[in-house]
Order: sequence, then structure tokens, then C-alpha cells
Amino acid sequence: MPVRIRTGALTGIAGLPVSAEVVISRGLPGFHLVGLPGIEVRESRERVLSALRHSGVRVPPGRITVNLAPAGVRKSGASFDLAIALGIVAAVEGWAVDAGAALRLRSVFLGELSLFGELRPVRGLLPILLDVARREPRVAFVPSSQRNEAELAPGLRVMAADQLADVLAWCRDGSRPRERSPVAGHVRVATPAPAAADEACAALARLSGQELARKAAVVAAAGRHNLLLMGPPGVGKTRLARLLAELQPPLDRDDALTVTRIHSAAGLVSSSTLADRRPCRAPHHTVTRAGLLGGGASLRPGEVTLAHGGLLFLDELAEFHPAVLDVLRQPLQEGRVTVSRGGGQRLFPARFQLIAASNPCRCGYFGSSVRSCRCLPHERARYLSRLSGPLLDRFDLFVEMGAWRGAFAEPPAAPPGDAGWRLHPNPAQLAAARGQLDDWRRAPGAPQAPGNGRFLDQAREALGLSLRAVSRCLEVAATVAALDGAVRVEEAHLREALEFRYQPVFEGSR
Ligand SMILES: [Zn+2]
Repeated sequence: MPVRIRTGALTGIAGLPVSAEVVISRGLPGFHLVGLPGIEVRESRERVLSALRHSGVRVPPGRITVNLAPAGVRKSGASFDLAIALGIVAAVEGWAVDAGAALRLRSVFLGELSLFGELRPVRGLLPILLDVARREPRVAFVPSSQRNEAELAPGLRVMAADQLADVLAWCRDGSRPRERSPVAGHVRVATPAPAAADEACAALARLSGQELARKAAVVAAAGRHNLLLMGPPGVGKTRLARLLAELQPPLDRDDALTVTRIHSAAGLVSSSTLADRRPCRAPHHTVTRAGLLGGGASLRPGEVTLAHGGLLFLDELAEFHPAVLDVLRQPLQEGRVTVSRGGGQRLFPARFQLIAASNPCRCGYFGSSVRSCRCLPHERARYLSRLSGPLLDRFDLFVEMGAWRGAFAEPPAAPPGDAGWRLHPNPAQLAAARGQLDDWRRAPGAPQAPGNGRFLDQAREALGLSLRAVSRCLEVAATVAALDGAVRVEEAHLREALEFRYQPVFEGSR
């Protein structure tokens, strides 16, 4: 009698429900696996038969046929091992006629098997459970080492075991599996340490001699704007980017689940707890197109997706291959990325804040007061031409950082009382500004003061701004206004936003 066991596979960052259908018939002994199995799946034959032997199951000679449905989708990974093994035992022992066993068999089973019958972890367990078990809350059986990760999926009763023999015993008579390493069952949803944000604000205030950069960092942190820092080595560009990672707003539970899902699919979840802070990814400039965007045979998420909900930091921006930078345009525009594999395409989320840093020229010292630049004018022009106009247009804030002048010294003497966010930012002001921006986004109509349109038109002509640049300027101005606690965006806020738009370093080099 054919048996059907529910399991699942990971495709990209989503789970695909899969049924392992097993039938044992008379005929020449053999093991046939059908349903577009990839190479890892085909090898499950050896793992499953050996694991069954080590778990005390005698498989009678006969023709075993396993079909992984739906048959039209290529299967990869080893997550089906446990389901295939259970299907074979259920067919051999006729579990379908036992009401209790048949009910327990309606669970979802996930796990790779070792040759000795141990259960091994599965990459992407959380996304698989979120999508496979979502439709009908039921029991999921997973390897013990992944119990915590499985419990992040809401509405699911999680059973876990270390050994195939224990899963078999539970299916046969409901006996509770032993877990070698019982783990606390509660799910941790930590809030980001407020101390980190306080410290980051204090560190920002200590960057003396970098007023514009500090101001830009606060605006970028409050409004999650894209920021490009340019300047010679050693002026603190990387440090500023790291501080911005600490100043990201806390994650709510839905975002945390999405971030954890992505990181589980990439095999990065190690502690099996819900993500408690927004990610910060900093790929090296030698990253490939697939590394940045995602892809490959197993459709792994790339850096832009791993940064989803958080921050992507590109240091030495001009050293990245221009073709690699070019692919950032889609995620920056749409907040998602199209990943292709074979003939198919998949959409991954990729909404991130882009922080980039670059030297002004190859030697790094153009415009520096510390050392003189050794580059010829045409070399400088070639270096910066690696950054395309459309890419630069997507940076809302641009800051040239000057030479290092006593940074990390004592903060500048503050006037008594609140010195304001421009000199002494604090996490409460950031949170208040974010709240105000949310209110404005929800309210119909932009929070514009009358007369701003004329001012913007003049600025657009004088600075040669694109329409996209103008709309980004308006967003930055709204953030400045929100940080000021203003009720609407005034001309002064627009002027400050335009200050960040101007790109003097490109003058004469383009
Ligand atoms: Zn130079």
C-alpha cells in the first residue's frame, strides 16, 4: 500500500511543500527515486538504507519506489531523508491501518540522516516550516539541534529527536523521543541594547572637526537615507559607517522573522534565536555579481538580501567592478532583487540602507592637507568615472570628509542644556524623528511649506539636479525638519538637504 509523508524543501528563501510517496512492490530488488531529484537527493538512497539498518529495521527484498511530489520541481538538499526513511518503514510495517500511527504520520518530517541513523540539521529549516506548516497548523518533527529554530514558526507543535530510532518509536506507539541535549523551549525576542545606541551617539559627538559628516550621519540614521562618504584614508569613514550600524532602529517581530528566515536560508542562523538587531553586511570589493545579488545552483540569497531590513556597507566603492555596482540599481529602486537560475526567476527582498565610502582618487590623498596626491588629472577622472551617474544619484547624502583633526578628543564644549542633534545627537531624538516621519508618511499630502516649490526649481537649475535628486532632497529635508521637531518642511530644511547633495569633488574631474 502506498504511503505519503509530508516534508519540505528550500527554494531560495521560501519553503516548498513536498510529499515523499513510497511504494514497495514485488519484483527485482531495487531503490528508485523519482521526481527530479538533484545529486544530494539521489544520494539519500545510501544514507536512508544504512540509517534504517542501524536503527534495527529490516527492509525485505523488493522494489522500493520513492516519488517526490510535485514532480515538476527540481529537488536539492538532504531535508527529505527522514521522510523517505519513515515512508519505507510505514510501507513495510503497514502503519496506515493503525489509526494512531496514521495520525502521527500526518506531521511534517525534516532532517538529514547520517549512515548511523543520527538526525542532522537542515539548511533553511525556518523558511521551510513557515511556508509548509503555515496552511494547516500541525506537528513538525525536526533534529534536536534545530528545536529552537523550529519553535520560531508560530502555530506549530515541535517534536525533536537525535536518532531515527526515536522517531520510529514515536510513530509506532507515541513514545516520547529522548533528546540528548534538551534545550530551553522559549523563544527569545531581545530588544537591542540601548547602551549601544547611546555609545554610538557619544562616539559621533567625539568626531571633532567632522561637523558635516556627523550631521549627515544623524540624518542618515533618522531617515535611513543612503550615504556616500568620500575622503582620504584614515579620516574615519569606516568608523562612521560602523556607528550607523549601531544607530539602526529596533526590529519589530515581523521584520525579525523575515531577517531570521533569510539568514536561516543562507545557513547563517547559529544560535537559533530570532534576530534581535538589524543586519549590517560589508562585502569586500572583490565580491562577484552572484555574491552580491544571490543565485547559484541552490539559489542562495546574496549580500543585498542578507542586508534586507538593515544596512549594506560598501567600503572602497570605486574599487568594486562597475558591472557589479550597476546591479545595485534594481534593489535600490524597488527594495527587491530578481535572481535568475536556469530558465526561472525568483524575487528576493532587498530593502536596505546603503552606506558607502570611497577615496577621492587611487592614491587616496586628493584634497588632503596631510599628504599630496600623486595622481594625474586623467587618472583621477578615470577612478571616479567608475561610479556611474545613476548610482551616485541614489545617494541622498554626500559628505567629503577632510583631514583628521584631533578626532576622539574631548567633545566640543556644549552649551548648557540640550545642545541639539547637530552637535550632540541622542537616541531619543532619533526615535522621535522616526515617529514624526512615519506620521507624515501616513498622512495625505507632503508636509511642505508654501514657497518651497519655487526654491526647489531654482536649486534644480543652479545645481543641475535630476527629478529623482529633487525628490530625494525633499525626503532628506523632511528628516531634517523631523529632527528639528518642526511641524512642516521649511526652506531652511531644504537648504540643509541641498548642502548634502552638492558634489564638489567631481568638479573638474568629470
Ligand atoms: Zn591621488
